[in-house]
Amino acid sequence: MSTPSLPHEPSLRPEDLWPRIIATARHALATGALQPIATDCQTLEQRGVPFQVRVLGRAHLKDDRAKREKPRAVPFDPFENPDPDLVVGGLSPTHLCLLNKFNVVEHHLLIVTRAFEEQESLLTAADFEALVLCMDGLDGLGFYNSGEVAGASQPHKHLQLIPPLGPEGLRVPMEKVLSPPPARGSVTRHPALDFAHVMTGLGPWEANPTKDGARLLEAYQSLLAALGIGHKLPPYNLLTTRDWMMLVPRAKAESHGINVNAMGFAGSLLVKTQEQLQRLQELGPLELLRQVAP
Ligand code: AMP
Repeated sequence: MSTPSLPHEPSLRPEDLWPRIIATARHALATGALQPIATDCQTLEQRGVPFQVRVLGRAHLKDDRAKREKPRAVPFDPFENPDPDLVVGGLSPTHLCLLNKFNVVEHHLLIVTRAFEEQESLLTAADFEALVLCMDGLDGLGFYNSGEVAGASQPHKHLQLIPPLGPEGLRVPMEKVLSPPPARGSVTRHPALDFAHVMTGLGPWEANPTKDGARLLEAYQSLLAALGIGHKLPPYNLLTTRDWMMLVPRAKAESHGINVNAMGFAGSLLVKTQEQLQRLQELGPLELLRQVAP
């Protein structure tokens, strides 16, 4: 089953994206469709990266337990017929833009395929075109968690986009050490980051979804090729901005009980308890990232 593309449904224009996000979020909060997760945020600086560490509140842990105690008879696909209150708009005949129902950071977007596709399948031209349409309206971090080990909780294909996290106007904390980005076409490793990764530069943003989508697809393919990845994909995280793209092959979902998804490699981590925060302080965020992507 897929969410139908209505014949006369206009696609979201980049300039309309931000006002639509704000209006959708306001309405979804009022109806209860949007259920933000409250956290306290701390900065943990290591090797020039001002990591943001969000710590879940105790109330949320109790909620989480309550939810886990109600197993469903049939696996539920939240993106098959998404809650209309969370739909920001249609992007293309193949993709929709939704608000993340359980958001930790504000205005967290999901870019989901209308028809079911596996989260582990290769990203396509249509996926990147939908993503760049959103990135044109919101200059943040696009990412993809491919596989459970990489942090994916839903098997239905979904890319994600978050607004800039900062600090100081940066899109993500990791940009403190990633600037300037590599040249377009050159695949590199950053010497200060000892977790497994490859990255490349994307050249100037053109504000043309077909051209920008094609450049991102080409960059993605060059990163897969650099890692020697063919059709049998290992779990990985993909991170992209308008300037650079990084791919991180994953060996483990977590270390010391701390789960890591693509946002971790951008410099944003989530821990469940004060004990986990203390463990992370002792270990250092870069060592945690190395342990899950050795
Ligand atoms: P990931 O966990 O990286 O696979 O991303 C999937 C996201 O979907 C999670 O961050 C969830 O918060 C979010 N999510 C779960 N259920 C729904 C839903 N019904 N509508 C919108 N987002 C959802």
